[in-house]
Amino acid sequence: MSSYVTLNPATGKIEQEFTELDDGGVSRVLSRSDAAFAEWRATPVSVRAQLLIRIADAYDARQEELAKLISTEMGKPMKEAVGEVQLAGAIYRWYGEHGPDLLEREVLDPQGSEESLVQTAPIGPLVGVMPWNYPYYQVARFVAPNLMVGNTIILKHAHICAASSEVMAEIVHTAGVPEGAYTNVFASNDQIADMIADPRVRGISLTGSERAGASVAETAGRHLKKAVLELGGSDPLIVLDDGDIEQTATIAARARLSNTGQACNSPKRMIVPNDKLDDFVATVTQAFESARVGDPTDPSTQVGPLSSIGARDTVVEQVERAIQQGATLHAGGDAVEGEGAFMRPAVLTGVTKDMDAYSEEIFGPVAVIYGVDSADEAVTLANDVGFGLSGSVWGSDIDRAQEIADQLEVGMAYINEHGTTLPGLPFGGVKRSGFGRELGRWGMGEFVNTRLRRTS
Ligand code: NDP
Repeated sequence: MSSYVTLNPATGKIEQEFTELDDGGVSRVLSRSDAAFAEWRATPVSVRAQLLIRIADAYDARQEELAKLISTEMGKPMKEAVGEVQLAGAIYRWYGEHGPDLLEREVLDPQGSEESLVQTAPIGPLVGVMPWNYPYYQVARFVAPNLMVGNTIILKHAHICAASSEVMAEIVHTAGVPEGAYTNVFASNDQIADMIADPRVRGISLTGSERAGASVAETAGRHLKKAVLELGGSDPLIVLDDGDIEQTATIAARARLSNTGQACNSPKRMIVPNDKLDDFVATVTQAFESARVGDPTDPSTQVGPLSSIGARDTVVEQVERAIQQGATLHAGGDAVEGEGAFMRPAVLTGVTKDMDAYSEEIFGPVAVIYGVDSADEAVTLANDVGFGLSGSVWGSDIDRAQEIADQLEVGMAYINEHGTTLPGLPFGGVKRSGFGRELGRWGMGEFVNTRLRRTS
């Protein structure tokens, strides 16, 4: 059986199976992508921009259909799925509207009497390896800036997202992007390694686990290719002593349950003043216990299944291990009996440095809540993990909250909000969360030749 299969995580039923790339496929794909690069880079910037706008229009026009597809293949609740389709469309539109300006050549201040300018040129075919948690959004933030720049794309999606991956390719081609400028491949890890090694491929972008990131970055390094990695996170959400406990706990709970907790930048660790801990835990526990877990296509569902039975079992096992190691469970944490990859959202306290749950990422609906005696202690705790994706600070004294946010070892720091993602804002992390940036002008600057032209 092909590993590219749509296996509905809410029912356990196989919905569709896809043919994997055959042995000769790698060389065919590379030749096509390389040949298309010559044509695509010569296509006027204004035309590339128009095609991106057309892609955005298609996402807007097909919201319900596209949302339903990911709801079926990875279990996203419908309301969130529609939101994701809108965000993907907005990213294509943003690059269609702003891309031409960002690609304008820049004349440098006179240095000598000669004219010096910098041009932004494409570099060639790129391989994108994408995860299942936001099937459209993850692809859009890699594809939109790079099609705009004039690079060509070879896209390998997660094996559970073959159906949405095929539809994304269809949208891009229907909009008018030439076949070879965007190629969807159902490739194996070995085939991806062969592609990265091939001289025609100029760069690789991966969003996913540390394991996958390390593997492709190793191959890329060996062949002197640039890599952008967006990996895991264990983001802190810090509530200061002047923060509104009930309101922040309610927002934090909602954010943690979003996408059934399967987001790299979800607030996985909540850090609260000790004298407010009980109230905070009570509010999050109440929110988790009352959240409706069930069929993701039912509009009233708040928490869907996890992406697979295996993913669900991993998270349940992490919760069990935390309890065995001494943590306190306040809600849920167990698998829901019957078909589907469902679990009840869990709240943990009493996690200490010697426990696995202190340092590992929990990719599911689990809140780990800590009590601290000072803002300094909160910052130390927040930074005491290998990850550095994003973090947030909540309080009414904005200057103080900003000062504390500035001490977080993260790529994105938020005050009184968590995880806001907009097409024009940079996205990415430090430490084990990866390197490079996506979105905004930064996302367009990763796979380019920043080319000097100087005329005497
Ligand atoms: P993976 O990292 O395995 O999957 C992400 C993508 O990488 C998929 O397309 C996958 O392909 C591909 N991939 C995996 N290994 C390789 C390799 N050696 N060479 C080339 N491509 C590879 O994520 P999982 O689905 O296994 O999730 C495990 C954990 O990863 C989660 O628990 C979470 O911690 C993290 N994760 C983080 C995400 C984020 O947004 N930063 C998103 C998803 C996961 P295939 O599906 O065919 O295996």
